[in-house]
Parts: sequence; structure tokens; C-alpha cells
Amino acid sequence: VWQEALHYIQGKVPKQVYDTWFTPVHLDRIENSTAHIGVPNKFFGDWLHTHYGPLLAEAVATARGGGDLAVNFVVFQKSPARPVEPQAVLNAAKAASPAKPRRGIQLNPKYTFKNFVVGAGNQFAHAACMAVAEQPGKAYNPLFIYGGVGLGKTHLLNAIGNHVAEHTDLRIAYLTTEQFTNEVINSIRYDKMMDLRKRYRHIDMLMIDDIQFLAGKERTQEEFFHTFNALYEAHKQIVLSSDRFPKDMPDIEERLRSRFEWGLIADLQPPDVETRIAILRKKSEDEGVTLPEDVIQFLSTTMKSNIRELEGSLVRLGAYASLTGQVITLEMAKTVLRDLIGDKKKVVAMEDIQEAVCAQFHVKMTELKSRRRSKTLVHPRQIAMYLCRELTDASYPEIGRHFGGKDHTTIIHACRQVAKAKESDHALHQTLESLKEQILRS
Ligand code: ADP
Ligand code: MG
Repeated sequence: VWQEALHYIQGKVPKQVYDTWFTPVHLDRIENSTAHIGVPNKFFGDWLHTHYGPLLAEAVATARGGGDLAVNFVVFQKSPARPVEPQAVLNAAKAASPAKPRRGIQLNPKYTFKNFVVGAGNQFAHAACMAVAEQPGKAYNPLFIYGGVGLGKTHLLNAIGNHVAEHTDLRIAYLTTEQFTNEVINSIRYDKMMDLRKRYRHIDMLMIDDIQFLAGKERTQEEFFHTFNALYEAHKQIVLSSDRFPKDMPDIEERLRSRFEWGLIADLQPPDVETRIAILRKKSEDEGVTLPEDVIQFLSTTMKSNIRELEGSLVRLGAYASLTGQVITLEMAKTVLRDLIGDKKKVVAMEDIQEAVCAQFHVKMTELKSRRRSKTLVHPRQIAMYLCRELTDASYPEIGRHFGGKDHTTIIHACRQVAKAKESDHALHQTLESLKEQILRS
């Protein structure tokens, strides 16, 4: 079963991800519809759980010929073949069954105020969230958190939710914009709009993550507008997060955008170096990973703009050290994290990107650069443009020149399309990752 499951996973993730995260684990046993997966340490399990929990469940379930399956992670010591003292470390991740839409995900218990490191860039947002968590509906309504990728929006929203759940009986809904959108779509399809409305209007606190994805979704915006009004008038707390400021979301109706500004807008800025160091210290301590001072310095000066990456590098280092049984050193950090930090931007040529994309989609270079607009060409072309923007320092007009002299607005449009689509399209996301990996390796 495990071999088959691995095979399944291999087909779904880039090779590098597979090698790093799936070769070190094994299936310990299956018991009461739960697959127990052996992992080298808690950290590793945690990471797998958040990023690939559903995929693992799906893979094992598929290998067994279907059925619902949960996964659980157990830490094995030394010999991967025979787990010693299996220790249940994580909650089960339910296999997401694609057929039925899920209603709002659970709050993530790991994201609390307690383990949120406060620093210059997030002090204000943190204080605002605390105030809302203490007095939902009374402090600021709505609370609108905005900030770039990986700066803690989701963490803070969950922290509010966890706090409120712990101290009150309020009914809380935390969901992503994508989930809300899916609910609206399903309600339309099954003619259940009234149910949806009723459900949301009985909630005491509504938290929607990544509200920027409402852009262009008129029907969902309409529905959200009514839900917002109903809750707001009833003095129920609303918390929203977005990667941009309300004014910078032109594809969201004005009446909604203006409502986003009714309460308090709090921004998250990238962490300064002290905060980055504090985060590294805290996380390594929490996870029992020993980081020497020079490695802390190295990481905090190379990973500047994104806390998720900072955390990811720590996870990788911890996993590597525990797999190889070595202590973490600066040398090791540099080797293990090479691809995360290297100045890969400069070495990639746009031609390499175009070639990789042509090979992947079986199109000719001349077609890729042409103006033909058949769907089989537009898709790879947009992907190639997007990757040129991601992997090189080229400007939009420069990229345009490499695609047979296209206007820079065409490139901007392509980049936006792909960036937006990959958020909800898992397959696309994986294609992009594996292309990137190929290109960077070549
Ligand atoms: P966003 O939703 O803004 O993209 P996340 O909330 O997912 O970002 O944060 C990315 C990762 O960084 C999460 O694992 C989160 O726990 C961690 N993180 C972000 N900010 C902090 C912080 N101030 N202290 C501790 N961890 C943080
Ligand atoms: Mg988020």
C-alpha cells in the first residue's frame, strides 16, 4: 500500500519536494481508518501535516482502493524501519473528499497570540487583533488586516479565533475567500441561497482570510455585501485580511471597499532584523532545534521579507540535521538552504524558461512567441511570461521583447492571470513549481 501511495504522491509533487519530504517517512500502520505515518521529528511531522496532510491521506486512501482516511504522525527514532516509542504528535488530518464542499475550515490551534512574536512591523496589527479578541464586536468593526505574503495575516486571524473560542461561547466562522466563494457557487447551483444566508447571519464573528480574492467575483461580492451588512448592523464582529489596501482592489465593488474602511485598518510590515532574530529563537526553542548564533545571524540577514520562508528554512535545517544525525552548523545551513537563498535571479535566461515551457506543453518556440491566440498557446505563453517575471530581473517591456515584441501590458496581464489562477488551481501551482525547479536546476 505504501509503495503505491508513494507512487501516487510522486505524480503530484515536484521531485525535489518528494525527495525532501516523502523519502524520509514511512507508513507505520493503519488502524481504525487512520494511517499512522512515521516521521523523523515533530517539526517534520508538523510541516508535512500543514502542507501535505490531505495529499498523504488521499494517497493512502487511493492505494487502498478508496474510503475516508485520516492521517496521524508518529515520531520514530533513528531506524526508520522500526519506530521506537511511537508518540502521537499531531491531530489527524482528514482526507479532504473532493466531492462534497467543506463548510469552513477549523481554526488552526497552532496559531495563537502566545506564539506570535511582536516586533516593529506587526505591533499595531497585533494590538488591534488583541483588542478585537478581547471584545468582539465592540473594539473595531470591521478589523481589516493587510500585509504581504507570509507576514502573519492568517496567524493573527486564527489567534483571534482561538482566543475567542477559548473565552466565550460565540459562534465563530473562519474561512478563506475561496471557501466562501465555493459556498456561494454551490448555493446557487443547488438553489440553497436562503440556507447560506441564514447560516451566516447567525454567526457572532465572521473572519474571512485573503479577501482580495473577491476581485472579479461579482455574485460572491453581492452575497458578501449582504452578509456584511446584516452582521454589522447586529454589532457582530467582522475580521478580514488582504494582501493589499482596500483602495488598491479595483475589481471589488466600491460599496464593499468603502465598508472595509469603516472600522480599523491595520497593516503588517516585513519584520526588522531584531524581530527576525526573535522569531528564529522562539521557533527553534519551541521545536527543540539547536541553532548556533552564527546560523541565526546568517538566516536573519538572508531571509528578509517573509516570515514563512524564515520558518521554512528552519524546518528544513532541523529535518536535515535530524535525518543525518549531525549538529547544525553554518556550513550546513549554507548547503541545505542554497536554493532558497542563492542569487538565482541573475543566472536564469529567458530562453531557458521558454524552452522548458515549450517542452512541457509540446509547443514550438515560434508558436510561443507568436500572436496566435488559440487556447493551447495562450496558456503556456502566459506561464512562460509569468516565470520570466518570477525568475529573472527583467522588466515587463524586456519580457515583452523576448516574446516577439509584445506590449508590456500584455505581460502584466499574463502575470496577473497566472498568479491569480494558481491560488485556486492546485495542478497549475504544481506545474509551476516543477517547471521552476527544472529551470533552476538546468
Ligand atoms: P500570511 O497569511 O500573511 O501569508 P501567515 O500567517 O501564514 O502569513 O504566516 C506565515 C508563517 O509565519 C506562519 O507559519 C506563521 O505562524 C509565521 N509567522 C508570521 N508572523 C509571525 C510572528 N510575528 N511570530 C511568529 N510566527 C509568525
Ligand atoms: Mg494567509
